[in-house]
Amino acid sequence: MRVPLIAGNWKMYKTIAEAVEFVVRLKPLVTAADHCEVVVAPPFTALRAVADAAKGTNIAVAAQDMHWDKEGAHTGDISAAMIAETGATHVIIGHSERRQDHAETDEQVNRKIKAALTTGLTPIVCVGETLVEREAARMEEVLRRQFQGGFAGLTPPEFSRIIIAYEPVWAIGTGRTATPEMAAESHRFLRGLVRQSLGETLAAQVRILYGGSVKPDNIRGLMAQDGIDGALVGGASLKPDSFAAIVNYLRS
Ligand code: PEP
Repeated sequence: MRVPLIAGNWKMYKTIAEAVEFVVRLKPLVTAADHCEVVVAPPFTALRAVADAAKGTNIAVAAQDMHWDKEGAHTGDISAAMIAETGATHVIIGHSERRQDHAETDEQVNRKIKAALTTGLTPIVCVGETLVEREAARMEEVLRRQFQGGFAGLTPPEFSRIIIAYEPVWAIGTGRTATPEMAAESHRFLRGLVRQSLGETLAAQVRILYGGSVKPDNIRGLMAQDGIDGALVGGASLKPDSFAAIVNYLRS
């Protein structure tokens, strides 16, 4: 039984004060949401304050990235232990904006996943093809490469702690959502990759979120698809009302 998860990725939005105000306003809107897990991913600067504000609620906190080393000369980076110390429990890894803006590779994604798991953080690992790749019918090839590189060398117990987010890059921040059927097809393909390399039990167990212009008015159709286990939401997660409407998709 896969418990759905709805996560909000705030990217480089919200000061500490704005982030805390968001949590204060979100809390009463999602207290009754026992059908899914709720996660918000503020910028690094607000992690501690958001984790404190969310203490004792059903809202968990994620970082948006991390370095794989425990410590070292990596200006501007933070480690898994530093994230865990804030009270965050999850970390987004391999977001397409990291892959594009910072040339992040599958090998780096793999190192980050391993470091996150060692520290007890739950990785939310993003994969997805660009528009050029989709139009060239290379979606499966790209997902296979990201899957094999990103998840290389993980034992079944390690893999069981991972959440995958399928985010077609052409649907992120563009207003173009993959249709529920397109998303479900990619999710089926990804689950098939898990089945081939790690077996049926993990394939049935792994949660695969969809991300890419998810909004209150399309979440229900996406969640109705078999194999879509939640959403990673960017733009529509920035306002408590709209994020809560996505979390509460069963009631919309
Ligand atoms: C994201 O950043 O992960 C994302 C899916 O963004 P948006 O919902 O704005 O497309």
